[in-house]
Amino acid sequence: NWLDVSRFDVTTVVRELSEVLGKTFQREIRVHSDNHSVHMRGDKEKIRQLLLILIDNAIKYSKEPIDVRIRSQKGGIKLEVTDYGIGVPESEIPYMFERFYRVDEARHRSTGGSGLGLSIAKKIIDIHEGNVEVYSKAGNGTTISIQFPRKI
Ligand code: ATP
Repeated sequence: NWLDVSRFDVTTVVRELSEVLGKTFQREIRVHSDNHSVHMRGDKEKIRQLLLILIDNAIKYSKEPIDVRIRSQKGGIKLEVTDYGIGVPESEIPYMFERFYRVDEARHRSTGGSGLGLSIAKKIIDIHEGNVEVYSKAGNGTTISIQFPRKI
């Protein structure tokens, strides 16, 4: 099967990934979680890939520290990646999850990016029956907020 579903602690996935990416790119990635562990049911490697895409974007499009939040709520689990970088203009938010789409400013950057990351992220969110919201203002940074239904 394409999906490899198990029950795992998502805080461990976030902490490990943040440490590796923080060291690799010499960036401060702060992890916030109310609970020591937050379990979810899903494909652990795909959730890791999803977080990698979001944190990698936060690194590429900002210079300040990055905040990753894990919240365990009644209805489900919330994962949020916040950066304080270039942001996304409101008019572009509806398109950023489309394949090969890149906001103008990013398109003109010399450093790479294919515009595929977020379309893959969206697929991973969808197969976990998740929901994604984007809060962003050009010049003020971006929060990508993902909610997964609780399935234990
Ligand atoms: P890659 O496929 O290598 O990730 P990419 O970053 O260009 O390349 P996506 O991850 O799909 O592609 O993102 C699509 C576009 O959305 C980006 O080109 C960028 O314009 C915008 N974007 C995504 N994340 C952020 C962010 N955190 N801050 C500002 N813009 C962003």
